[in-house]
Amino acid sequence: MIAEGVRLAGAPDRIVDIEVADGRIAHIRPSARTESSRVALPAFVDLHTHLREPGGEEAEDVASGARSAAAGGFADVFAMPNTTPATDTVERVAHLRTLAGGVSARVHPIAAATLGRLGGELVDVEALRAAGVRVFSDDGSCLDDAKLVADLLSYLAKFGGVFAQHAQSSQLAASGVANARVATGLGVAPWPLAAEENVIARDIALAERTGGHLHVCHVSTAGSVAILRAAKRRGAPVTAEVTPHHLALTDDLLTTDSGEFKVNPPLRSQSDVDALRHALRDGTIDVVATDHAPHPAARKTLSLTDAAFGFTALETALAMTAEVFEDANKRVDWASVARVLAHRPAAIGGIKAEAGRPIRVGEPATLTIVRYGENFTIDGARHVSRSANTPFQGRQTRYMIEKTLIDGAVTYSRD
Ligand SMILES: [Zn+2]
Repeated sequence: MIAEGVRLAGAPDRIVDIEVADGRIAHIRPSARTESSRVALPAFVDLHTHLREPGGEEAEDVASGARSAAAGGFADVFAMPNTTPATDTVERVAHLRTLAGGVSARVHPIAAATLGRLGGELVDVEALRAAGVRVFSDDGSCLDDAKLVADLLSYLAKFGGVFAQHAQSSQLAASGVANARVATGLGVAPWPLAAEENVIARDIALAERTGGHLHVCHVSTAGSVAILRAAKRRGAPVTAEVTPHHLALTDDLLTTDSGEFKVNPPLRSQSDVDALRHALRDGTIDVVATDHAPHPAARKTLSLTDAAFGFTALETALAMTAEVFEDANKRVDWASVARVLAHRPAAIGGIKAEAGRPIRVGEPATLTIVRYGENFTIDGARHVSRSANTPFQGRQTRYMIEKTLIDGAVTYSRD
């Protein structure tokens, strides 16, 4: 028995025992238990993970990042290509796959959109497609050149590939480090809302004309949500993600010139957070993606201008997502949590044959068991990730991962 006395995400009133054989769910039987504060979900899929290897092993490597993913309930992570060197050729994709052999999560390479992520020349999309790559992104850098975006989307339209854009106009955001609303008071360069919104609007127009699938990374503004909502109503081929931190934190945290809460895109205002949470609930934003961005402490304990962008997020994603789907009595809509952390990201990433599957007999036993109801304290120092730069340090949560399985094999167990 791999799970005794658990609720099911899709049928939370039932308490069941789950048995596994040969990596698949063999039986789901009514449990002898009549009370349970544990729920089984399809294991999570992250479309946006920074594993840092090669080149950034001081912060994370493929093995440690995969362990962190498993501890966060993830079975599958899509690895962003902003490593050193960038994942921009078939050989580098193959190297990443070698590094990912035998680690605690399935690692899916995202290829750079342009060579060296420099924005000048597209990668060999056809060769990378043949090597099994489905998602392309210059994440960390926006692909500013509209002609290159249009050409890439045209190629991708032919085989159902995805372009994941880091929407940040380099002209408008320049060297901005904080939401424009608070940047002036802090004496730092502003990262304005329009720098995100105008790239999303442009890219949606290009996606609609080419038929290529645009996926918008880490949406952060209410204006972006409005643009996405209108585009989806028209049937535009666009999907979008939001991070755990943009769902939970505001720019009110930036009270001093410290890099602790520095992230890209920056934390926004409460009205933006409210719009993002609403958009996740109504499906305008498809998925929660972590943008897990580990950094050594020395790179975060600097000024806002000098610190590195980003937070660890794999091990806190479930808690922040569940809170979005709580009702007034703190009952969680677990089916929606499964939708945004498993079913939809698996579909967008093109892995729905093996990930984000419904929990039923015959399906792969790729599951996450969540415990809820007690108070747990988030502590980056106790996280599995090599880095501890969580913006949720000391925060209380009611949700934690008890166990993660891939094809019946336990990849994480809290005990
Ligand atoms: Zn990004």
